[in-house]
Amino acid sequence: MFEIIYIENQLIDHPKVLEILKKYPNSEIKKINKVEDVFGRVKKPYLQKRTNLNLFLGEKKGQLVKLAPPAYGLSGEPHYYFVHAYNCIYECNYCYLQGYFHSPDIVLYLNHEEIALEIKKVAVDYHAKNPEHIVWFHAGEYSDSLALTSLSGELNHYFKLFRELSNCNLELRTKSVNIKELLKEEPLSNIITSFSLSPAHRIKSNDLKTPPLKSRLEAIRELNAKGFPIGIHFDPIIHDEQFIESYEELADLLLEHIPANKIRYISLGVVRFTKEVYQKVQRNYPESDLLAQEFVRSFDNKIRYNRPMRLWMLQKVKQQLVDRGIPEERIYLCMEDTELDPMNKTND
Ligand code: SF4
Repeated sequence: MFEIIYIENQLIDHPKVLEILKKYPNSEIKKINKVEDVFGRVKKPYLQKRTNLNLFLGEKKGQLVKLAPPAYGLSGEPHYYFVHAYNCIYECNYCYLQGYFHSPDIVLYLNHEEIALEIKKVAVDYHAKNPEHIVWFHAGEYSDSLALTSLSGELNHYFKLFRELSNCNLELRTKSVNIKELLKEEPLSNIITSFSLSPAHRIKSNDLKTPPLKSRLEAIRELNAKGFPIGIHFDPIIHDEQFIESYEELADLLLEHIPANKIRYISLGVVRFTKEVYQKVQRNYPESDLLAQEFVRSFDNKIRYNRPMRLWMLQKVKQQLVDRGIPEERIYLCMEDTELDPMNKTND
């Protein structure tokens, strides 16, 4: 899978590195000082990820935990994200990553202890001023939170940490069904695995190389049965002729796999792009029906449906969920005037 594995010098004997190298005996190994010295230094076309993918193993430096903007998640609560990986093995054709880094190569940062300390510090500082609030942390800001966990093996660090931080929540956001590592942990009520779902035909045409809807729903069923809290994202919602029926069907299927009262929250977001990402979609996926959508360039230069259309779509799907017993207060709309996503991205 990885042609070259780049390893920061100080990590060459790290047990996790040795474990990873054992899994890829045929990869060429190159020692480097810092990931940033090599990663993305020479532009590598995004679609080269299909045939040539390298892996970088390093330690994340700089600001390890960042404040997410308002409307990032459930409102009224502070949201932070931390970064322990860049890039993704999947290939959703709307993905913001195709316009974000100069390379699709995978980076895994292994200094989870340091990241965990920083999370703890942020939580303690926040609670010193606002002891009554729940503080949210989100993993996988630039990657999928579960897809590579069998390789990266970080979940145990975060389960240990959040067992202590009972007044904080961690969201693991994914399209993966790789729940093996998760199932090794004891479920915690403050670690929520959230699945991004779309109607089956949209997954086929847009979420390239990701597990199909059926498998994601089975993963949800299994995790819920074993006591792991579940969140859901219907994001990105894309309009087509079957829009209403396909979201009705999706809601029905979801509730066949998990009872409404077991879903912690459902977020709804309509597809949106920065200008740069939209240009990448035009170049990388010229045949995609995404390009035949009636988008406008809106007030902030983002490419999206016009406002009445966005609101109509969100309200339609919201009502379908409410009609099926999902309490309104557990549904949040991930956009509109408060759409202040830091990377202007379409999330997992
Ligand atoms: S949208 Fe998410 S799952 Fe899809 S390629 Fe991007 S990071 Fe991966």
